[in-house]
Amino acid sequence: MPLPTDYAPLSPDLAASLAALLGDDAISHDPARNAAHAGDWSEAPHVQPPIVLFPRTPGQVAGTLRLCHEHGQPIAVQGGLTGLTGGATPQAGEIVLSLSRLNAIEDFDTVGGTVLVQAGVALEVLQQHVETEGWAFPLDLGARGSCQVGGNAATNAGGNRVIRYGTMRNLVLGLEVALPDGRLLDLLGRVTKNTTGVDLKHLFIGAEGTLGIITRLTLKLSPRATATTVALCALPSFQAATRLVRELRRALPGLSAFELMWQDFMTASCEVSQLRPPFGDPAPVYALVETQGVDDAADRQQLEQTLGQALEHDIVSDVIVAQSLDDNHSLWAYRESVGELLGRLKPFAAFDVAIPVARMGDFVQQVGARLAERYPEPRHLFFGHLGDDNLHLLTGPYPDAADLHAMEAAVYATVGDYGGSISGEHGVGVVKKPFLHHSRSADELTIMRQLKAVFDPRGILNPGRILDGAPEPAR
Ligand code: FAD
Ligand code: ZN
Repeated sequence: MPLPTDYAPLSPDLAASLAALLGDDAISHDPARNAAHAGDWSEAPHVQPPIVLFPRTPGQVAGTLRLCHEHGQPIAVQGGLTGLTGGATPQAGEIVLSLSRLNAIEDFDTVGGTVLVQAGVALEVLQQHVETEGWAFPLDLGARGSCQVGGNAATNAGGNRVIRYGTMRNLVLGLEVALPDGRLLDLLGRVTKNTTGVDLKHLFIGAEGTLGIITRLTLKLSPRATATTVALCALPSFQAATRLVRELRRALPGLSAFELMWQDFMTASCEVSQLRPPFGDPAPVYALVETQGVDDAADRQQLEQTLGQALEHDIVSDVIVAQSLDDNHSLWAYRESVGELLGRLKPFAAFDVAIPVARMGDFVQQVGARLAERYPEPRHLFFGHLGDDNLHLLTGPYPDAADLHAMEAAVYATVGDYGGSISGEHGVGVVKKPFLHHSRSADELTIMRQLKAVFDPRGILNPGRILDGAPEPAR
């Protein structure tokens, strides 16, 4: 099916000014090339942008914003386009600004363990670059090959190792941000401690490009672990998983991941990735456990010992401990099949809700049973990052968009009833905007609109993402 297109021409004035600022080769009018910028991984309808801009420097990003601000031209900001909420998907009448050419690693402090990078550096490129000097950038997620560090900060990405290293917010020491009026705000923060008023960088982390465009980041590294041990556990119940994670946190200071997968997820994962089921008998819940340290043999022994005790206490019913790097990859493969599942279950809804752990088991049971009854055809796959209350539900396919929306509304209302958050890590974008009131009070939403008015009074930057309507001036 051809993509919807929108070829509304720019004002000639703006087009000439952009060409003078960026150069003709940084402006694509080519429909074939622009088709790759029509949308992210979510179900938000794709719209082919008439023009895609590829600035090469932070100054050019700021200059582009200034021109668009002056002309009232709306812009969609794009990182690696792996987002799952439609935030980077252009809307009719918008032009696209891609960060892909801001991809330099500008400075690597191998003594202090920090890097200064441009926003368009791919996460995996950064991970591999710093490893050469014995450091690690610990944020990690399935989309690592394509997502960009700027996009990670804009969505406050979480991923697999939050239990140990925190979310992107914990890893950003400083930012440089281009504002809609053309100012380039230097918040790069070269010192660790700085108690001099409001820490402005936090306003831009998780704001999904609605307040400014992140152009450069100073990021905190961790010493690279030289030993990684992985185990996959079959568990008799969700309650057992909560006991196991508590026990592992106590016994294993190097615990770096605790990923939960319910049985239906494991079955679907084996199907799409053509993997053998890990155990002879299926279990209600599986936990993928990872530790990072410095001594392979000692770390594995400690993990085996702790899991052995869990087996004795019936917290775990079966366990596989990886014996090699290949084994590590094979066990992670069950969890990493999400990319293929997303491709297979379209049109889908990919939830990333946060639910208090004490109530998460009930939530899964209640929502799973309701969905199975009401929508018997689609798959309903639960998995998540138990250490940080973050639960994923991938459900699809829903050929009828009305069904998809009704199902989302029901799930998000239940999230509200459970005192949870409608997004633990992917953000709101356009996909979750109608449900934001389940997680944010009317006062919070008003203040968010007022902040939007401070930074982007003409509403040209990612308009209609997170919040509807025009920016609201402060009273
Ligand atoms: P994009 O999709 O391009 O943009 C996302 C949002 O950020 C948009 O609103 C965009 O306008 C804005 N934006 C992008 N760059 C900038 C910038 N420089 N300045 C200001 N705004 C900007 N997410 C997780 O948190 N944890 C996971 O475990 C996880 N796993 C995933 C697995 C798969 C297979 C996929 C496809 C996605 C997954 N995601 C996950 C979601 C996604 O990868 C993250 O949200 C990622 O951080 C988005 O980065 P991006 O560069 O692709 O951003
Ligand atoms: Zn996740």
